[in-house]
Amino acid sequence: MIEDPRPVVLLLPVGSTEPHGPHSPLATDPIISAEMCLRVARALRDDPDVQVSILPEIGYGVTRFTKAWPGAIHIEEETLLALLVDICVSLARQGLGHVVIVNNHFEPEHIKTLHRAMDEAERRTGNVVGYLDLTRKRRAEQLTDEVREGGSHAGRYETSIVLAARPGLVDEQVMAALEPMPKNLAAEIAHGAKDFVAMGLPKAYNGTPADATVDEGRQSLVTLTDMLTQQVRDLAAGTGGRDTPGLYIRV
Ligand SMILES: [Zn+2]
Repeated sequence: MIEDPRPVVLLLPVGSTEPHGPHSPLATDPIISAEMCLRVARALRDDPDVQVSILPEIGYGVTRFTKAWPGAIHIEEETLLALLVDICVSLARQGLGHVVIVNNHFEPEHIKTLHRAMDEAERRTGNVVGYLDLTRKRRAEQLTDEVREGGSHAGRYETSIVLAARPGLVDEQVMAALEPMPKNLAAEIAHGAKDFVAMGLPKAYNGTPADATVDEGRQSLVTLTDMLTQQVRDLAAGTGGRDTPGLYIRV
């Protein structure tokens, strides 16, 4: 890697560890992030313009919405911020200036913290930190109905991706019996909702996880991989690579 003249882009998968219904693993979000990273690294393995490596994941995040259930492991905003900035500064000192944060946990305070960390890392290193913001309208529009209709927490979209990425980690018997819980998470969050119980989601999921399929998960992963691959290219070329906040499909 060191002798290779192509610019190096490092992918950093992040949190969180939290309940995802009675059927999908606590690590659902980092599993999705890690799978995206793996697929992007594979897609760009022999690319003439850029090389990609994957950093060890940060499997935790700012996690308050699922605090009613065991398994939610919250870290404070300042903890996450310091960790992300320290990692970017340490890498920059070694001449590794291209980092992309790959995130699939969408609590507002978590996303805000990621952006604060990207700003601070850029201030201290002079390097833009890459980010694919899936709460942007133009990103969500390329994904599934459940995402377009306000997001998925352990719903059909997220569960399908786990089925495709880590077969065996979804309890498919439990999944098949789950009743639909239609809920526009984006709208609830925009109106100030602070946790899933208050939103009327008593089992820590929304949407229709019983309809999840491996095929849908594979298709979503193709779309996510294409979007992230472009962010990596743009970051390496100095032409972009960091989305501004999508404010829950409002922009
Ligand atoms: Zn999730």
